[in-house]
Amino acid sequence: MEIIPIPAFTDNYVWLIRSGQKAVVVDPGDAAPVRRYLARHDLEITGILITHHHGDHIGGIGELARPEIPVFGPADEEIAGVTHPVAGGDSVQMDAPRLFFEVMDVPGHTRGHIAYHGHGLVFCGDTLFNAGCGRIFEGTPQQLHASLQALAALPPETRVYCTHEYTLANLRFAEAAEPDNPARDRFAAEMQALRDAGEPTLPTDLATQRAINPFLRCDSPSVRATLALQDASDEAVFTALRDWKNRF
Ligand code: ZN
Ligand code: FE
Repeated sequence: MEIIPIPAFTDNYVWLIRSGQKAVVVDPGDAAPVRRYLARHDLEITGILITHHHGDHIGGIGELARPEIPVFGPADEEIAGVTHPVAGGDSVQMDAPRLFFEVMDVPGHTRGHIAYHGHGLVFCGDTLFNAGCGRIFEGTPQQLHASLQALAALPPETRVYCTHEYTLANLRFAEAAEPDNPARDRFAAEMQALRDAGEPTLPTDLATQRAINPFLRCDSPSVRATLALQDASDEAVFTALRDWKNRF
C-alpha cells in the first residue's frame, strides 16, 4: 500500500491510497489533479473518503464518483454524493485496496468532522495539522480540544495525514506560543529545508506532534508562561491559544 499526496488549490493535499492499480482518495476538493494522476498512472478509483463538508474537501466528488463506488462521509453533515454516511465507532472496509479504518468523531472545525484511523495512520482532515490545528467554524474550543486529545491518544508512531500544507506558518506561531522548545526549533529547520526543496511536510507522526505542536502542549510551562495562564486548565490554555492564532 502506497500513499501519495496530490496537491490541489494552493495548499491542499488530496491523499491517494494505492494498491496495484486500485486507488482510494481522501477529501478530493478538486477532481482535475486527481484525474490527471489516475490517468498518468493508469489507476482505477474504487472509493472516496470524506472528513467534513467544506468545499475544498468535497468539490471533486461529483466528477470522480461512479455509481458503483462507495463514498464515505460524516453522517452528521449534509454532503451531496456521500453514499455511506459514517460516524464515530463505525468502520470502513474495502477490498481493493484492502483497507480497514475505524471512524472517529472529531468535531470542532465542523460539527460533524470525522477521522479515519487504521493501518498505523490517521486521515484527520482539518482537525490536527503539522504544528497546528484547524480553525473553529462550527464547534466549540472544548470540542476541538477533546478531538485533538483523542487523536493524540492514538499510538505515538501513528502517521498523520492532514489536508493542508500550513506547516511553516504554524511553526511561526508555535515559536511565539512556546519560545522554549529546542526540539521544535530543530524540527522547524527540517521543515523549512523540505519546503525549500519543494517537498511536502506531511505526513507527520503523533510522537513528533506531541513534542512540537503547541495545541497538544497546553501543559507546557513555556506555553503557559507566554499566555500568563500558569494555573488554568488545559482547556482554558487551548482556548486562549486558538483565539490568539486567529489574530496572529
Ligand atoms: Zn475545512
Ligand atoms: Fe480545508
